[in-house]
Amino acid sequence: PYDVLVVGGGPAGASAAIYAARKGIRTGIVAERFGGQVLDTLSIENFVSVKATEGPKLAQALEEHVKDYKIDVMDLQRAKRLEKKDMFELELENGAVLKSKTVIISTGARWRNVNVPGEQELKNKGVAYCPHCDGPLYEGKNVAVIGGGNSGIEAAIDLAGITKHVTVLEFLPELKADQVLQNRLNSLPNVTVLKNVATKEITGTDGVTGVIYTDRETGEEHNVELEGVFVQIGLVPNTEWLDGTLDRNRMGEIIVDKSGATSVPGLFAAGDCIDSAYNQIIISMGSGATAALGAFDYLIRN
Ligand code: FAD
Repeated sequence: PYDVLVVGGGPAGASAAIYAARKGIRTGIVAERFGGQVLDTLSIENFVSVKATEGPKLAQALEEHVKDYKIDVMDLQRAKRLEKKDMFELELENGAVLKSKTVIISTGARWRNVNVPGEQELKNKGVAYCPHCDGPLYEGKNVAVIGGGNSGIEAAIDLAGITKHVTVLEFLPELKADQVLQNRLNSLPNVTVLKNVATKEITGTDGVTGVIYTDRETGEEHNVELEGVFVQIGLVPNTEWLDGTLDRNRMGEIIVDKSGATSVPGLFAAGDCIDSAYNQIIISMGSGATAALGAFDYLIRN
């Protein structure tokens, strides 16, 4: 059996596995897709101490660093069930069952898609999801934000400071964001808010050229010409498979304490799948390290 078994091979899982292995304990890592969301990222400019890199390059560096240690890497394996008996038993999609004294869940999250034509085709070519990451790429350009909740309005405020103009598209007749954010948004000169509109299509071939939306009251179709679209309709944690195993919040994020411990003794979690305030590479790595140190502390006490 393992001392520490990490589930998920993104920045959080890689960091957790390295921190665990450095304690000289038996460590394994199971990942459906080693690298995680980083693989879907083009330029990364906010991973402090690395001025600029690209997602696939960082993913490769993560894997090389992990493989530098005595860690069992089980890539292309999806976990489907976790149970605690005398030890944790992790069942994989392929039927194998792995045993471990502690487990660290770092299965990350995925952005909620708007599911309109053009979204998939133009991902990373004008369709973006992370204003902290990609905002600066749209300096001086016209962009749209889809979603009028807190994350959408925060994104719009953020982008208004960088870009030429921001159009916010909200499906409902009213914005759902906190009033203070709405007030701040309304004070900005270069933002247009469209309410009660349904995004119909993101247009463009090599890059985004516009957004087509339907006015839900009149049924009329309109086109806005712009170069970037930020989809801000939520982040979904990859925790469905843990239903009933541990405590999660309303959004499905795993609730952890300051050492990454979940509601189940010996079970830890880190990265985008936990109830952290922000989701970034640097933050995931930090919480992965925390969870590994938490798991080590648990092992020496039990
Ligand atoms: P993830 O990266 O989501 O990794 C999750 C891992 O778990 C993957 O290996 C996945 O295959 C695996 N997994 C999931 N379910 C299972 C299962 N059931 N069984 C086994 N394995 C499973 N952040 C920045 O700091 N800077 C940026 O510039 C930046 N740009 C971004 C651009 C895009 C397009 C996206 C999508 C995100 C960006 N982010 C950026 C956010 C950053 O990528 C995430 O915060 C970070 O990857 C989270 O790391 P994680 O390890 O928690 O999860």
